Amino acid sequence: MGDPLISRDDAAEVLGAVARAAGPYLDALPHLPVRDPAHAGLLEQLGGPLPEDGDGAVAAIADLLRIGTRAATHSSGPRFFHFVVGGSTPAAQAGDWVTSLLDQAAGLWLTSPFAARAEAVVLRWLKELLGLPAAWGGVLTPSATFANLTGLACARHWWAERHGVDVTADGLAGLPRMPVFSSGYVHASSRKALQLLGLGRDNVRAVARDDAGRLDPAALDRALAGSGPAVLIANAGEVNGGDFDPVDAMADLAERHGAWLHVDGAFGLYAALSPRTAHLVRGVERADSVAADGHKWLNVPYESGMAFVRDASALGRAFGTWNAAYLPEPDDEFVNYNNLGPESSRRARALPIWAALRAYGRSGHRAMVERHLDLARHLGGVVERSADFELLAPVTLFVVCFRYRPAGVPADGLDDLNRRLGEELVADGRVYAGTTVYRGVVALRPAIVNWRTTTEDVDLLVSVLREIGARLTGR
Ligand SMILES: *Cc1c(COP(=O)(O)O)cnc(C)c1O
Repeated sequence: MGDPLISRDDAAEVLGAVARAAGPYLDALPHLPVRDPAHAGLLEQLGGPLPEDGDGAVAAIADLLRIGTRAATHSSGPRFFHFVVGGSTPAAQAGDWVTSLLDQAAGLWLTSPFAARAEAVVLRWLKELLGLPAAWGGVLTPSATFANLTGLACARHWWAERHGVDVTADGLAGLPRMPVFSSGYVHASSRKALQLLGLGRDNVRAVARDDAGRLDPAALDRALAGSGPAVLIANAGEVNGGDFDPVDAMADLAERHGAWLHVDGAFGLYAALSPRTAHLVRGVERADSVAADGHKWLNVPYESGMAFVRDASALGRAFGTWNAAYLPEPDDEFVNYNNLGPESSRRARALPIWAALRAYGRSGHRAMVERHLDLARHLGGVVERSADFELLAPVTLFVVCFRYRPAGVPADGLDDLNRRLGEELVADGRVYAGTTVYRGVVALRPAIVNWRTTTEDVDLLVSVLREIGARLTGR
């Protein structure tokens, strides 16, 4: 086929093919297994030599759809409970298609005033939705890892300034180690951000008072008294047991000791949407920086994250490059978002969020959040009432931490049994959940965050676990 300019492929025709495939695929999605082992062989068909002349767009897209709709992980469906993986609401997904259709270079106002304005609007809406002050600065990122990186880069700049150094210009050389404190709940992505920033992955002091990792506020108070300027990471939502650090108490400590408070609220920040859980994030509005995801509980397609900072000029100081000290005014219309975050060229990732918020509003997203709270409570109740399951942590949000504990299996055999149960569950493919080690024991920790998930999907997890468990224990 050759040169795209002279081949006869019509963009509307191939996009139409995708749109025509979308209906049947999305209709089937609630009923598909998470992953169908029968289609694993199709992955081979992705390979082969680099095409010399190409098959043309129609054939290429037809092939991609044929393989993808069968062999992809249907994690956007209602029964993917492993890790914390959201789906895509129709408006968000269509907004994402529009993003690709318009293909904006969303780093500079000059290249897309449309994308810049959409990002400003979306950030304003998100602050309001999540209970953050309107005057804060913000930027959209590809993920919460990048949002943690963004917040912690601002923290690093602030901290180096306390030592008389402009770290953006001059780097870390000559500075002491930046003191970083958290609880045992600190997420691997915060460590990754510290590692990227040259601050050290292992340079976090986890001040915990028990084997679950819960914060010891008194010990943190003592540690901060002697540390000099420090950075605190509060974890608003932990992925194993679903618990939260006491953000408000950490804000008190940050205030008392003049520390920077960063909140990792990847999924937990959305607890603010329901009066039933808003207390879990009380105090986030007192933080210096906050990170969250769109592709988890907001059910926006990958990749979608967001970072917010109290001092709106902090982003420009940490990320302004090319010697351009970029200090946006609060209502500056001409924002160059590539100066406010880690990316340069970037897609208009505001559009799917804009579409979701415009389509469903605050009340729609609150209803979704509360449905997940109900489903998690339902699953927790089933587990608690079952003699063959053991609930390991209270259900705070949407994570249900438990293990299989049938009669007749000795206590020292339970870790092995649950590990194998998790592996077999994933191999089975009908419903996904995974294991972790929680307080020293192997536990399942399904997370219910997909807008399509119903009671039947959650009940299927329980019955498939029982079915596989019976096979593993030979009864
Ligand atoms: C998922 C998660 C992250 C990282 O988010 P990504 O979007 O995967 O980069 C950070 N913190 C917590 C608590 C998370 O659950």
